[in-house]
Amino acid sequence: MFVFYIVPFIIVFYLLIKKKKFSKKHPIPLKNIAILLDERVEFYRILPPNKKKIFEKLVDDFLVSTKIEAVGTELTDLDKVLVAASAIIPVFGFPGWRYKNLTDVILYPDNFNQDFQFEAGNERQILGMVGTGFLNGQMILSKVALEKGFSKEAGKSNTAIHEFVHLLDKADGTTDGIPEILMHHQPAIPWLKMIHQEMNRIQKGRSDINPYALTNEAEFLAVASEYFFEKPNEFKHHHPELYQMMSEFFRQDLV
Ligand SMILES: [Zn+2]
Repeated sequence: MFVFYIVPFIIVFYLLIKKKKFSKKHPIPLKNIAILLDERVEFYRILPPNKKKIFEKLVDDFLVSTKIEAVGTELTDLDKVLVAASAIIPVFGFPGWRYKNLTDVILYPDNFNQDFQFEAGNERQILGMVGTGFLNGQMILSKVALEKGFSKEAGKSNTAIHEFVHLLDKADGTTDGIPEILMHHQPAIPWLKMIHQEMNRIQKGRSDINPYALTNEAEFLAVASEYFFEKPNEFKHHHPELYQMMSEFFRQDLV
């Protein structure tokens, strides 16, 4: 008789523990991830249903494996999903990709300066950065910039995608605008030539790519990637050769 009481008790107890573990491991239920993506992420919205499912799963995997924290601001589920979406978008053509060089993403309330200060009154220009040295493995993002990147006013810019492209570029050891990991042994010279030609056009005011791309080749790659993912039709129309090359890098044809 005893067993009739104890067995259901053990089963209920086991299910409760399992549920608790599940919610701890998966910070946001898949259903809610899908809702938030659908509300805010255009890249996801236009995917066919089977790919949407894959995208949701990848967002969940990212959230399970990456610590996201906020300093001086509230961390919402939307922020977490937007960080994860920014990570997934550039590597959506690479099944099984993991950001080995990332452990933490830290959100600051707004833009910050070189000394990581974000209070008003300081000169604040940085929207996001990939940590080096003692900050290796960390990414810092402005919450305002993160959310703006997925708003209708974003245009060709998306700060978080920009930073994740820097991480991809860095995966071969150097952040130099030549993402060897994405290039699959293609020679770098034609790509560099293309970058320098476009930099020339930007300098002469004949390109619609953000002049911040003139900083160096790494910034060019990150800025052009924002444009590629945010406004693929426009990018292909104005920059067919760059589009073609980057479409091969990312293994994604968005048009
Ligand atoms: Zn940058």
